[in-house]
Amino acid sequence: MNLTDKVIVITGGGQGLGRAMAVSLANSGAKLALVDLNEQLLEETVQLVQDAGAMAKYYIANVTNEQEVESTFNHIKNDFKVIDGLINNAGILRDGMLIKAKDGQVVKKMSLEQFQSVIDVNLSGVFLCGREAASHMVESGTKGVIINMSSIARGGNIGQTNYAASKAGVVAMTTTWARELGRFGIRVGAIAPGVIRTAMTDAMKPEMRDRLEKMKAVGRLGEADEIAHTVKYIFENEFFTGRVVEIDGGLSM
Ligand code: NAD
Repeated sequence: MNLTDKVIVITGGGQGLGRAMAVSLANSGAKLALVDLNEQLLEETVQLVQDAGAMAKYYIANVTNEQEVESTFNHIKNDFKVIDGLINNAGILRDGMLIKAKDGQVVKKMSLEQFQSVIDVNLSGVFLCGREAASHMVESGTKGVIINMSSIARGGNIGQTNYAASKAGVVAMTTTWARELGRFGIRVGAIAPGVIRTAMTDAMKPEMRDRLEKMKAVGRLGEADEIAHTVKYIFENEFFTGRVVEIDGGLSM
């Protein structure tokens, strides 16, 4: 896909990786529809996209809410006339151990609410937005691209029952959609980043950051721009579909 004038929807486009993707795609000539919960962050990202000389609009919506997702995608279609791409990037963490035990007694359990809240955003949100984007693409005969954000945690990670399950599910949906939607000319890919430098990792204790950096063959954390670069690769490479790109600096666990 040549990104010039293509309309790309990014969920969680208010900050972090979503913001970096928006600016990078704007530099390639794309138009951005940014979806998030936080209006102030959305306004800031729209400004950055406009500074890069591209067009952007924002939409406040919760990706877990079916009606909000449906009406947001209808609004985007009305505003831009077409949807060429979707990046399912909105995601949350609510880490905790499955159980905590002391002296052979279980003292704490991960609550169903803690599990479900992450599944709702990271998995059901991806399902809802992917479904709506694919519907619009098929109805307008658009050979679009859908990118789902997974994580290296998809293989399992201590303290992340909910997050790991959601990110494994995202990869399973990616493969399924690539097969189902290929007949319409729609490609679907996933990205599984390692630890990327964000406000969250900047706030970590130096010794914790140090430990994470040493776990990578490249000896440092990833940069948001490096994930945005991977997004661009998936959009532009017409032979790419149904696979997950692991971009983790050679993490050894
Ligand atoms: P972030 O927390 O900085 O940004 C996520 C954005 O999603 C926020 O702007 C938030 O408001 C929005 N969001 C959260 N819940 C939402 C909802 N229900 N509806 C709409 N928007 C919602 O996160 P990030 O670090 O930029 O990560 C982006 C994606 O990449 C996530 O899916 C995350 O799991 C994945 N990821 C990140 C890393 C990393 O190191 N940063 C590593 C692996 C995977």
